[in-house]
Amino acid sequence: MIISVLVEVASQNIDRLFDYKVPNSLISKIKIGIRVIVPFGNRQVEGFIMKIKQTSEIEDLKDINNVVDEEVVLNEELLKLGKYMSRKYLTNLINCYQIMLPSALKAKNKTNINIKTEKYIILNKEISNIKTNPSQQKIIDILNKEKEVKKSLLNTISQSSLKTLLKNKIVKEIEKELYRLTNEIKTKPKSTLTADQEKVVAEVIKNKKLPQTYLLHGVTGSGKTEVYMEIIEKNLLNQKTALVLLPEISLTPQIVERFRERFGNKIAILHSGLNAGEKYDEWRRIRNEEVNIVIGARSAIFAPLKNIGVIIIDEEHSTTYKENANPHYHAVDIAIQRSQFHQSIIILGSATPSLESYARAQKKVYQLLELPNRIFNREMPKITIIDMNKKLKQKNSYFSDDLVTKMQKVLARDEQIILLLNRRGYASFITCFDCGHVEKCPKCEITLTYHKTSNNLRCHYCGYATKKSETCPTCHSLNFKKLGLGTEKIEEELNNLFSKYKIIRMDLDTTTKKGSHERIINDFKAKKYHILLGTQMISKGLDFDNVTLVGVINADTALNIPDFRSSEYTFSLLNQVSGRSGRGKKRGSVIIQTFNPDHYAIMFAKNNDFKGFYQQEMFIRGKLGYPPYYYLVSIKIMSASYDVAKEISNKISYILKEDLINSIILGPTIPNVFKINNIYRFNIIIKYKHELNLYPTLIKIKNHYKSNNKVKIDIDFNPIGL
Ligand code: ADP
Ligand code: ZN
Ligand code: ZN
Repeated sequence: MIISVLVEVASQNIDRLFDYKVPNSLISKIKIGIRVIVPFGNRQVEGFIMKIKQTSEIEDLKDINNVVDEEVVLNEELLKLGKYMSRKYLTNLINCYQIMLPSALKAKNKTNINIKTEKYIILNKEISNIKTNPSQQKIIDILNKEKEVKKSLLNTISQSSLKTLLKNKIVKEIEKELYRLTNEIKTKPKSTLTADQEKVVAEVIKNKKLPQTYLLHGVTGSGKTEVYMEIIEKNLLNQKTALVLLPEISLTPQIVERFRERFGNKIAILHSGLNAGEKYDEWRRIRNEEVNIVIGARSAIFAPLKNIGVIIIDEEHSTTYKENANPHYHAVDIAIQRSQFHQSIIILGSATPSLESYARAQKKVYQLLELPNRIFNREMPKITIIDMNKKLKQKNSYFSDDLVTKMQKVLARDEQIILLLNRRGYASFITCFDCGHVEKCPKCEITLTYHKTSNNLRCHYCGYATKKSETCPTCHSLNFKKLGLGTEKIEEELNNLFSKYKIIRMDLDTTTKKGSHERIINDFKAKKYHILLGTQMISKGLDFDNVTLVGVINADTALNIPDFRSSEYTFSLLNQVSGRSGRGKKRGSVIIQTFNPDHYAIMFAKNNDFKGFYQQEMFIRGKLGYPPYYYLVSIKIMSASYDVAKEISNKISYILKEDLINSIILGPTIPNVFKINNIYRFNIIIKYKHELNLYPTLIKIKNHYKSNNKVKIDIDFNPIGL
């Protein structure tokens, strides 16, 4: 017997199969999709069995050393999916398989993952009339009722009776794998759907044309989660399974809890808070078909679930669904592949769908479903915009009087407040503290990024550079500086202004410990705090019915990040965070402080007008040639030598310009962080609508440099953040 093996060696040169012989002693264990240990050069490495065959063109094949798995780790579907990814993202096949598996299974980071087992007793099937004593009979009665019972438990009834039953083969012993996490189940009766929710569910269920992707556009608090659960339940009744993706599991414990309450322990939850062993346990529960629902973040899209009926991607616009490292996959692309294999449906849900998805729904590639109203027709919160240009001149505070007054009123009524300060815009940009002016690239409408070393402002898309002036070009103020304001600073001011009240801060610094998100959220829900202050972490998925005021300290941070999607991010963030207000019976309000009160993203957010925003933003994207009208590919050229990186970037840019006559080639440019760990990076962007030469050219470039170890080339299709 001969097998073809994909070895776990990460080198662009070795991304192909190698044949090995299987010694007779191992033949019975060989299966496609398990791992084996093989000699490779003078080492031993792990690899996946991809093919089993009888002959090989290669003579003098070496024997494999051993077999690693008893059961398949990459099933037929995942093997196929990896090949698709390798073609689509131009990455090594082995990398594609590695990211599908829990880290505990990776050869290079062997963690200690002892599998624990526990002995159970079951009845032997063919027991006829037997004579038993009372304690033996008691054991049999228990087993008749419970099917399988821990041996330790039955031993407490009568050790000798159990022994006799075992000896007479009336019962037998089995060993079961013990999982580290035990899920307590608290089931809760489900709510009756509203007519709007029913309509959406019925629309999905009656569809017989598979696969099908739906875009569920539902305002915050419209009951999308309830709709997901109903559709899942209908699938379970048909013996189908469900895969649910959430942007970040640790930030959304409330949603996970709702799924647990509804579906009990038939759920596997994959999240970053689990250690390697726990993740591996969850993965095995899925592989062993012990669960029929999987909930997880981006990488859960690779869960080895069989018979998938529905894939749900909640908050589908979230950038966390795009993998930043190689292979640069998008969870929605993978979902679409899997839905074709399983003939299943996909539901992409959001209050603020990405422009790409909404445009696809407009073109009927996705079917649009809408929940335009909040549950029980609860009102959307009232949103007020505060122009900080006027306020800041009056007094030196980050809080406007309007916000402070409103907060006092809400606190006096014993209701709670969420405050957002989005610090995500880390890239340093320069803004005028008097008029709010921000410098943008004249060609790309992208915020220019300040580079301290050269004291100039640069465009990260086209490379445009200009000297930073000392005064504001619009109002000539000297107050033209780098923007930097953190949650800690705000917390300080908050403590002075509201010393009587309890304030809790939730950001990266206060949530490093395992379970800290959950604790903050639970404490806030239990009203141990009056004010929750946080970064965009607090904008998603939280459902507190006593929160009637949301305040946004500064809506401009997201607006000024150097990215063509900055307006979209701003609209979406404001909409999401506003959606945390007034979710209960009392109507909520929102106060948004900004230096750009006339910006369309802020105006449409004020009116909760997604469609208006969509049209305006599409117009701008079309005019400037950005997605969804154009596709983008980003190529990063990385080298320890500045000269090599620069020279090769110029060469690649030249080849692209020669070969891709239907595309626009931007760059090479120097990105914001252009030197990381002493590696220099250059960036080239390809913009295109239809480009038949794209793949052949990129493959040519990749192959040309693949054995050049002075340079690394990273290709990212449809990049998020350049
Ligand atoms: P979304 O996911 O669209 O923000 P949710 O599913 O979280 O909305 O629903 C908002 C709130 O309304 C939640 O507290 C939820 O429990 C409640 N809810 C949703 N649907 C119903 C229903 N049919 N009956 C009663 N309560 C519901
Ligand atoms: Zn100014
Ligand atoms: Zn530019």
